[in-house]
Formats: sequence, C-alpha cells, structure tokens
Amino acid sequence: MLKTRKLVMIPGPTPVVRSIQDQMGRETVAFGDADFVADFAEVVSDLKALWKCGGEAFVFAGSGTLAMEMAIANIAGKGENVLVCSNGFFGDRFIDLCERKGLNLDVLPAKWGESVTPEQVESRLAAKDYQLVTVTHVETSTGVAAPIAEIARIVRKKSSALYVVDGVAATGGVEETIDPMGIDVLLTCSQKAFGVSPGLAMLWAGKRAMEKRATLGRIPESYIDFDKWLPIMHNPAKYWGTPPVNLIWALKESLRIMKEEGLEERYARHERQGALVDAALEAIGFTVAAKKPFRAPTLSVYLYPEGSGIDDTTFRTMLAEEGVQSAGCLGDFQGKGFRMGHMGNIDKHTLVSAVGAVERACAKSGYRVQFGKALGVLQEGLAKE
Ligand code: PMP
Repeated sequence: MLKTRKLVMIPGPTPVVRSIQDQMGRETVAFGDADFVADFAEVVSDLKALWKCGGEAFVFAGSGTLAMEMAIANIAGKGENVLVCSNGFFGDRFIDLCERKGLNLDVLPAKWGESVTPEQVESRLAAKDYQLVTVTHVETSTGVAAPIAEIARIVRKKSSALYVVDGVAATGGVEETIDPMGIDVLLTCSQKAFGVSPGLAMLWAGKRAMEKRATLGRIPESYIDFDKWLPIMHNPAKYWGTPPVNLIWALKESLRIMKEEGLEERYARHERQGALVDAALEAIGFTVAAKKPFRAPTLSVYLYPEGSGIDDTTFRTMLAEEGVQSAGCLGDFQGKGFRMGHMGNIDKHTLVSAVGAVERACAKSGYRVQFGKALGVLQEGLAKE
C-alpha cells in the first residue's frame, strides 16, 4: 500500500522545504573554504541586521538548551539574583540551569495557559534587586506567547537587570528585535520557525550583555564562552569548534527565504494562519489551551472536546497514521490534548492537509465530526490570503 507522507507538525522540528534540504545535501567542504567562510560571514551579518542587533550574534552547533546555557553562563556571575518568569515547562528549564550556576533564583510562575504579566514583573522588581530576568517568548508546553516588549520596557525602567528572552519557539515567526525592544540576550535554534533541521543554536547579545561578559573574566564553561566564539563570528576563517557546514548553508537559505518573504509579512502570516488553524479546530469542539490575548502564532495546544471520549494515545496514533505527527501535552495538560505547530516555511497545502488529517483522526478515534467543518473554516480564511 502506498504510505501517506508524514507531515512533521510537532512544535519543532518543523517541515524543511526542498531548497533548504538541498543545502543539507551538498557535498561538505572544509570549514576554511573561502566560499564557505563568505557564506558564514553573511549569515552572521544577516542575523545582526534582521534582528536589529548592534551587539553580537553567535551561531554554533547545538540545540536550544545549549543556547539557554550560553546565555546564562556569559552574563550572570555566581550569587547574582535571577528572576525566572515561567509560563510552563520550558520556562522552568531555566531553574535547574541557573541553580547549577550558583545563582539566587526566584520564580514568577503563570497559571498553565496564561502568561506572566508586565505588572507582575514590575512588582517583583520593586521588591528586590535583580541582575537578570528571563522570559520564554513562546512557551511550547502551553502555546502561550509572553508580552516580551512590554516586559522589556518594565525591566529597563525599573531595574538594571539584563533581560534574556528564550525565542526558541518564536524567533522568525513572531517579532523580536534586540536594540529597539530592549532585549539583552535572545536565544533560539534552527528547528522551529527557521524551518531548518535540528542542530544549530543561535544567540544575539546586545551591547550591555557584552559589557557584562567583560566583567566576568574567565568563566568555567569553555565551548559556550562568548570570548571563544567572538573571533570566529567576526572572521569565520578562524577556528574554535568545527562549524556544521551544511547547517550553516541551510540557515543561509532559510534567511534568504525570510528576506524574500519580508519579516513583517512573515510575522503577519504566522498571526493570520495561527488564528485560522485555531478557529478551524474550535469549530469541531477543540479548546485552545492558551487564553486570549496570550495565544502564540507559532503553535497551539488543542484540548480534546469535552464528552468526545477521545483517548489521547489513540487519537495521536490515528493522526500519525493519517499523515500528521503531533506532540503530546506536558504538565497540567498531559493526556488532555495534543500540540501542533503552525510555524516556519509552511504553506496552504500543509495547513489544509494537517486540518484534514485531524478531522479523519477524530472520526477514527470514535469522535464523530462533520467532515469539512474544520476544513471549511480554514478554507474560508485561506481563500482571503
Ligand atoms: N525553549 C523552548 C521554548 C523550547 O520549545 C525548547 C524545545 N522544544 C527548548 C527551549 C529547548 O530546545 P532544544 O530541545 O532544541 O534543546
């Protein structure tokens, strides 16, 4: 039997388009190859320009977690006070990371499905002196987007703390700028809204973050030390750790696609299409776990309709059989729904296929839906694009 193609609709990795795959499939060259060095330099320069960073950008082999660790390791000294604004599972990831580095930690948690607010941050900053504030832009366990620009304004106005944003499930799909927004460190990785295979970590450090690094002297970490990578980011002909040549090319193609689409339009597309997929699934009884106005444009947690009798494992197995890979829920939402990404280089075909597969998976797991109901909502919206 002809197998149904698998669409990778988990919240990362996201579908990798042909032109990016082609870069992965190229014959690998020496990292000192003159053409590659020029490509690498262009990538670093594009990252700085597109995210409006007057400081530095770093690209290196690793996943998002390594970039989180790099952020903390380079701008926080032992014994400093950190406020971790956590909207869920990945916000909490900063806790262990900061504890291991001997930082004094306070956690500002949000209810599952909601976001920490600028007002809450303001009252915490008024009560204590912090050197660091961390926020997760899009919390992948809940589909919540934090109001990062508003929180940035509060952090800048009310403290001298450095502001770290985890953009893993947001960067390239939701607006983020370093200098204009007042972000000191932004970190992300390749497999989400960049639409590149997993394996690349990225980090932007504004001027204040670089100044802080200079005050810390020799930090315990080696591979993720800004000082080790900086000469390479300024001149990729130099060597520190071997760059993942093909992934850098893949990122270059991803950035080319972003520039061709235009970042503003890319962010707007994510807004429109994210809202459409949400509306489509709501039409057949699913609940979007993230409360408005905190819904992320890049991914959603869809809670199973009450009384539908849907069994989580059965549903997601059926969905996979119908050609869509989704992710299970975490924490408070575990077993109650599924997570689906709608970010990166995805087109109308992908969205129609994904929503169509959800309808079939509902039927196959015993929840009767009117075929075409969710698709109808999606199609109406897509036809206006
Ligand atoms: N932060 C967020 C918001 C994430 O979604 C993830 C991964 N899903 C991470 C950090 C960790 O990234 P990685 O799995 O690439 O280490």
